[in-house]
Amino acid sequence: MPATSYAALEQAFGTAPRIVVMTGAGLSTECGVPDFRSKGSPWLTYPPLPFADFMASAEMRLEGWRRKFAMDDLYVGAQPGRGHRALAGMVQSGRIAGIITQNIDGLHQASGIGEVQLAELHGNGTFATCLACNERHELASVRREIATKAQAPVCGCGGIIKSATISFGQPMPQGPLRRAEAWSRNCDLLLVVGSSLLVQPAASLPLVAQQAGARLAILNREPTPLDGMADIVLHTEAGPVLENLHVNSGNVPQKSTISAVATNP
Ligand code: NAD
Repeated sequence: MPATSYAALEQAFGTAPRIVVMTGAGLSTECGVPDFRSKGSPWLTYPPLPFADFMASAEMRLEGWRRKFAMDDLYVGAQPGRGHRALAGMVQSGRIAGIITQNIDGLHQASGIGEVQLAELHGNGTFATCLACNERHELASVRREIATKAQAPVCGCGGIIKSATISFGQPMPQGPLRRAEAWSRNCDLLLVVGSSLLVQPAASLPLVAQQAGARLAILNREPTPLDGMADIVLHTEAGPVLENLHVNSGNVPQKSTISAVATNP
């Protein structure tokens, strides 16, 4: 049976030389960004289009953009919450080696975490890219073009422009995935925060960490399928717990720097 007390988590945090954290949509709910699976989620009203549907026609792409902007408008101006700020503080102090995130809201970056310490598994919904030449396009210009021409925008190279998120059925970005796997294999404690652990391959990373000898802690409001295998499970709000960990956790030095792993996955 896993331990279920905050004290057990704090003790694990204070003694693990190398800690990696994997975050999900639950980390951002305190910022007003709805998660995917909690009851009444607006993502069910505006479900993101699967990749094959988005690619099927210009009309479907217009529909995809309509759904994306309807969701974005629900949490426009969202700022990092207590959980993001606490994690950023612990990354900056060297207490956390790296953050693997399934989130697409850009709030880890907004809290001050740099690209070297962040592995974004599902891309980023705060900008768009051309699927052909990879040029970055800002969402404001995509919105303007849709408002004036009522059609999905196309890149100067003729390629399809898409939000920089990874849609269902779209190939995963290999760089972040390889980094996340390497970090999982090379940590002493993997802490999962605010994830239902139902989306693959992210949901396998805790197993990768455990098989390599790490302890597993899960901090989530509701039960997850991996609770039974974890060493520590807390079913509670993430923000206050992470804030406490930031204030109370010790200063055991990390075994190695994350950049060494990042450049040699
Ligand atoms: P999920 O919605 O499947 O699960 C979120 C989990 O967080 C739930 O089990 C819920 O009980 C828990 N939770 C919610 N608020 C919490 C809180 N304040 N404290 C502790 N736990 C809390 O999310 P997922 O596992 O990340 O998978 C969803 C998928 O949808 C991912 O692929 C992700 O990219 C995408 N998504 C991202 C965002 C975002 O970027 N913020 C939001 C919605 C969906």
